Amino acid sequence: QRIVAADATGDERAIEAALRPKSLDEVIGQQRVREQLGLVLEAARARGRAPDHVLLSGPPGLGKTTLAMIIAAEMGSPLRLTSGPAITHAGDLAAIISGLNEGDVLFVDEIHRMSRAAEEMLYMAMEDFRVDVIIGKGPGATAIPLEIPPFTLVGATTRAGLLPGPLRDRFGFTAHLEFYEPEDLDQIVHRSAGLLDVHLTAEGSAEIAGRSRGTPRIANRLLRRVRDYAQVRADGTVTRDVAMSALELYEVDTLGLDRLDRGVIDVLCRRFGGGPVGLSTLAVAVGEERETVEEVAEPFLVRNGFLARTPRGRIATPAAWAHLGLVPPAPGVT
Ligand code: ADP
Repeated sequence: QRIVAADATGDERAIEAALRPKSLDEVIGQQRVREQLGLVLEAARARGRAPDHVLLSGPPGLGKTTLAMIIAAEMGSPLRLTSGPAITHAGDLAAIISGLNEGDVLFVDEIHRMSRAAEEMLYMAMEDFRVDVIIGKGPGATAIPLEIPPFTLVGATTRAGLLPGPLRDRFGFTAHLEFYEPEDLDQIVHRSAGLLDVHLTAEGSAEIAGRSRGTPRIANRLLRRVRDYAQVRADGTVTRDVAMSALELYEVDTLGLDRLDRGVIDVLCRRFGGGPVGLSTLAVAVGEERETVEEVAEPFLVRNGFLARTPRGRIATPAAWAHLGLVPPAPGVT
């Protein structure tokens, strides 16, 4: 697994739990989402009702699970967790929903990956607080309607666009999480360092924040690796030098590119004069699978303006050349 992966790796979820903000006030950044969500929750509390269903969309590692937990905590309600891929049959969902109590918060991660049949059951549950439990099979099957107490569904998705319209429309409030600014990540690193009892200087923190690809999960992971380095190879304090040496060891450069990312733009510039070059050719030259280049490396490179996808192939941008310390060939020269 890459150190700059945005998804949680292995048993990381357990370590992350200790670093999660527990209330909206503790959440760093995402100012607008925090304010909007704060209003939704406060109004629901004042009315003594379960808040509207909430959809959280945005790339992995930005705080969707954290916010779901905070919604439950702020409402003083229990949280039930499941995920789209875990709900393969409508019956799986019926079992979960029929066990809910009034005011419970049900978190469905990766809600866009739920089965079609479950999705339809969810529409009804969200709108009418009712599910049809199917008894028996084939022509003799009967649907028994079951009332369920009002609950709040919190759905999380990496791409709201992947959700069918009818499902999206049943959320009363949608929050889109954006990548974090370096200043926010800097605060997150400071906060996590405090919780992990790591001594860190302002420059050390800024160095980690700048390499975290706008993602708190990556910032926290880099902090843990830098802490190891500080303990073993230095006096325990994370200074700028310590952070730089540690992250060099892990091959995460100053802008958060790792070996794979750099490999892609390096081959593109040095071997193909900046492109355009087809994805398959590029992948072979990098020594990776086509899918790895396309799905793992490219999104970050494109988002950060290092690589562009054109109908004729991939091209390196001036920023890519500059980042590698190279000068692009003059126009017209091949
Ligand atoms: P997602 O569900 O979007 O993949 P998580 O909620 O699991 O992301 O967050 C990943 C990690 O990043 C958690 O350890 C969490 O503590 C931390 N984190 C996310 N957002 C914030 C934030 N706004 N402030 C502080 N820490 C955060």
